[in-house]
Amino acid sequence: MDEKRKECELALDLLPLYLDGKTGEESDAFLAQHLKECENCRAVQELLRRELPLQVRKKEPKRKRLRISKGWLFVILGLAVYLAVLAGIVWTILYSMVSSIM
Ligand SMILES: [Zn+2]
Repeated sequence: MDEKRKECELALDLLPLYLDGKTGEESDAFLAQHLKECENCRAVQELLRRELPLQVRKKEPKRKRLRISKGWLFVILGLAVYLAVLAGIVWTILYSMVSSIM
C-alpha cells in the first residue's frame, strides 16, 4: 500500500510535465503504466488535461491571434490573386470563343 502511495506521489509530480511533453522516455513509460493501473491518477490526468490548454490560451492570446490573422491575410491575398488570374484566363477564353463565333 505504501509502495503504491509513493508511486502516486511521483506520478502526480510528473503529470504536469508529462502533459506538457517535457518528460523523458523513462518517466513516460512509468506514467503510462501507472495511469493504466491507478484510477485516481487517471482522474487527475483528465482534470489537468482539460485545464492546461486553457492556461496556455490565457497566457498568450495576443501573439496567437496576431499569428492567425497574419496567416489569414496571406491566404486571402493569395486567394484573391489566384481568383484574379483565374478570372483573367476565363475571360480570355470566353472572349476568344465569343469573337470566333461572331
Ligand atoms: Zn496513482
